Amino acid sequence: MRVLSVASEMVPLIKTGGLADVAGALPSALAPFDVEMRTLLPGYPAVIDALEDVEVVHAWTSWFGPARLLTGRHGTLDLFVLDAPDRYARPGNPYVDANGRDWPDNAERFAALAATAAAIGRGLAPAFVPDAVHAHDWQTALVPAYLRFGASGRRPATVLTIHNLAFQGRFGADVVARIGLPSEAFTPDALEYYGDVGYLKAGLLLADAITTVSPTYAREILTPEEGMGLDAILRHRSDALVGIVNGVDTTVWNPSTDAHLVATYDADRLDARVANKRAVEARFGLAASDDPLVCMITRLTTQKGIDLVLDALDDILAMGVRLVVLGTGDRVFEDALGAAQARHADRLGVLVTYDERLSHLMQGGCDAILIPSRFEPCGLTQLYGLRYGCVPIVARTGGLADTIIDANDAAMKAGVATGFQFAAGSGAALRLAMQRAVDAYRHREAWRAVQRAGMAAQVDWSTSAAAFAALYRRLVPEATATGR
Ligand code: ADP
Repeated sequence: MRVLSVASEMVPLIKTGGLADVAGALPSALAPFDVEMRTLLPGYPAVIDALEDVEVVHAWTSWFGPARLLTGRHGTLDLFVLDAPDRYARPGNPYVDANGRDWPDNAERFAALAATAAAIGRGLAPAFVPDAVHAHDWQTALVPAYLRFGASGRRPATVLTIHNLAFQGRFGADVVARIGLPSEAFTPDALEYYGDVGYLKAGLLLADAITTVSPTYAREILTPEEGMGLDAILRHRSDALVGIVNGVDTTVWNPSTDAHLVATYDADRLDARVANKRAVEARFGLAASDDPLVCMITRLTTQKGIDLVLDALDDILAMGVRLVVLGTGDRVFEDALGAAQARHADRLGVLVTYDERLSHLMQGGCDAILIPSRFEPCGLTQLYGLRYGCVPIVARTGGLADTIIDANDAAMKAGVATGFQFAAGSGAALRLAMQRAVDAYRHREAWRAVQRAGMAAQVDWSTSAAAFAALYRRLVPEATATGR
């Protein structure tokens, strides 16, 4: 079984969020299930620079400019790269310029990626003709549209994974003429979406199967409240929709080997975490203390509930908590955190930057991680928290609801509690959960039990990779039958 995964970001080459972690982990997670996965990425400078054993598969002049399809490797990852310099040879972020504005040709940039994936699906690279193409989010959601409206002939199965329904790839109708799709594609049963073009919308209608990143989010997005305007389409396709929770790469995220930690440890050596705590305090300019140290590692947006934390900040810090925030995002929240830090210099640490290494150290040294999202398709930082004994305090929504067992009395007695949950979007509930966590922290053995239960929770890819492999095989029964 051969599967082409196509994504706009991938660890360790380029990352802005959880999609990159997932795209990076899937190929090795699927290998034990006899799924050979290659990944198509845009030829951003960081990707081109990292590519080894490069071969040119194809070259063309097309609507997205002069371009070459490259194959190569990075470490164990087998890659295709769309080297289209007019579209991707730009510094910085994949989606926005230095001022945070979307690149003006994002419609073309990501349509080009999807069109290329469809071409590989049809057999452009004879050495790797996939049985299925697995697209991720709006950036690659047009793959089934290019297969439907392109040349007839070979057609692989298509899977579309929704990592976040909030980002939909909506553009003006004039885009159709510029992305190599015929005008017949501009109808309500394909591209057209309230007079515009909807990339994700088209993918949701045309993909053979749709997955999203947790069972709870798969149910939530069928409702008008959480469906972001696409709930009717998702209800229409609900037979094709399944929630498969993300795993984490347990070789990269392993507290007993993590080179980003000052001190490595395991569930039997939790006292060693204190050296990491001291290092985190130093990085954030806080004094050494045994008071609970709570972290956030997050995009600073209303989705992530940072505004709820800012509103509740005085109360939270008065509980004896210190909070360290690593994040980037909306300017208004970056500024508000800076102002709050000036008021609470001894209890609040803020670093407005993106720092992968520091994020590991924080998981390995902080006592808890706060994730107050208004909605959260899966969430990865709570899974890293589980693995690192950094107890998650989470809003009860999406994947956070599916992966954390609240430390209520019954769960504590049964020894299965792994964190603290509270009603999403409620500042009062957030305060209460923080108070419960602080109280539990003061009872050392109870706290250790929650840490250990979390560290024993299964967060690797094994179950979810099996679910993906089974899904591919259901869509491509002939590949299974011929043992391809
Ligand atoms: P989302 O993809 O919605 O941003 P996830 O929880 O699924 O949220 O994934 C976020 C990923 O990005 C995690 O791996 C997290 O550790 C990482 N991350 C977020 N912000 C930062 C930051 N400022 N520095 C380092 N890593 C970050």
